[in-house]
Amino acid sequence: MEKIVALCKRRGFVFPSSEIYGGMGSTYDFGHYGVLLKGNVKAQWWRAMIGEREDIVALDSAILQHPRVWEASGHLEGFTDPLVDCRTCKQRFRADQLEEASCPRAPSKHPGEHKDCDLTQARQFNLMFETTVGPVKEEGATAYLRPETAQGIFINFKNVLAFARKKPPFGIAQVGKSFRNEITPGNFIFRTREFEQMEMEFFVPPEEAERWHSYWLEERMRWYLDLGLREDHLRLRAHGAEELSHYSSATSDIEYLFPGKDERSERRWMELEGIANRTDFDLRRHAEYSGEKLEYFDQASGRRYVPYVIEPAAGTDRATLAFLVDAYDEEVVEREGQGKGEGRTVLRLHPQLAPVKVAVLPLVSRDGQPELAHEVAARLRALMQTEYDEGGAIGRRYRRQDEIGTPWCVTIDHQSLEDRTVTVRDRDSLAQERVAIEELPALLAERLSAPWRSPKLAGDPA
Ligand code: ATP
Repeated sequence: MEKIVALCKRRGFVFPSSEIYGGMGSTYDFGHYGVLLKGNVKAQWWRAMIGEREDIVALDSAILQHPRVWEASGHLEGFTDPLVDCRTCKQRFRADQLEEASCPRAPSKHPGEHKDCDLTQARQFNLMFETTVGPVKEEGATAYLRPETAQGIFINFKNVLAFARKKPPFGIAQVGKSFRNEITPGNFIFRTREFEQMEMEFFVPPEEAERWHSYWLEERMRWYLDLGLREDHLRLRAHGAEELSHYSSATSDIEYLFPGKDERSERRWMELEGIANRTDFDLRRHAEYSGEKLEYFDQASGRRYVPYVIEPAAGTDRATLAFLVDAYDEEVVEREGQGKGEGRTVLRLHPQLAPVKVAVLPLVSRDGQPELAHEVAARLRALMQTEYDEGGAIGRRYRRQDEIGTPWCVTIDHQSLEDRTVTVRDRDSLAQERVAIEELPALLAERLSAPWRSPKLAGDPA
């Protein structure tokens, strides 16, 4: 993970937030390439939810919602973590994660194991951030930053039914920021206090809930695999009865085998996405607390019922981290053009996820090459995210593009000026081919939309 963090900083994907003031624990700012990468992750999610099907509609609800929402949802009462304090070192730990924490006095031991440790009893601590709405901090104006996007969907169930002309089974999808006052955040952008979620609530007749739950487990696994994650680093894990949330009758997590903090620590299976059968809990509770009827009336059969909900809930930042980790590779290659071995770092990202699809590089910054390169870049820019880069040795410029995961580099050389051809370099195979400028836009557009299989999976059966 150290290497990913360093690459993200070096290449402008992700920076620690408020760095010039010494940082603000576990908050991060996304730079240019990070914004593009995360934007592509969200675009692929929207494509899978909305673009490729007809039974899901989009929503963007407010972050600040009526405080009663969180009473009805159970968050005010139950969205808590058990905490213990150490009276000796004054540190606070999650009681259910002591095995993963280390004692500040003896980092090889867990809290409670050192002879000086003096832990308190566990207390429940609510994870919602509280704020005050209005000019004066007075009673009655307390609001909460939403800890999940899902409730915004449930409270809009009636609105959506009225306009969307959908009947169960149908879904409402939303992407947006959520906030949790996590006690033990960390592991880079895996767990932060402010993060983005991609959640979809799929409303179904109660008797069909189990079948749809299985359906969404499969669909969501396929999404990660199609975008290039290694199959042997992904798994589904069903929650045991003691682990289920209060609203859920069945939940399975999609887990990814994330690397530890440094090379010495072991990889661990950690949650990427949870897929829950939320039953009719949320609609029933909001109906009870708001007095509104939240149900579906099927005119054809005359049946009236409260739908069950299947929820695939993913984290955008967590998925982005998994794609980065999975794509990261180091290898020794012949130095291009010179045959000497040298190391390179490369992000083997799915082309649809890569922040930049193509870089246009004049071999030298004179003799008319930059002008032609600008012309080529302008034509490609109309089709895909394109970068122009002119300074420095060509090998260094290729390495830079490798590190940000650019699948294709187009090089303009002296021959280009004579016959209007360019070379296209492939990020993964390093193969170079000569292509006419006229054919280049169509060729790259076709490659970008073609199904893609990562070279890291090449040995696997298809
Ligand atoms: P965890 O057990 O890791 O705390 P959770 O089960 O509480 O996660 P959910 O409430 O199911 O998480 O949220 C759905 C998804 O939102 C998670 O699978 C994860 O990808 C993302 N997510 C949740 N909390 C955070 C966080 N603090 N930082 C980044 N992503 C998060």
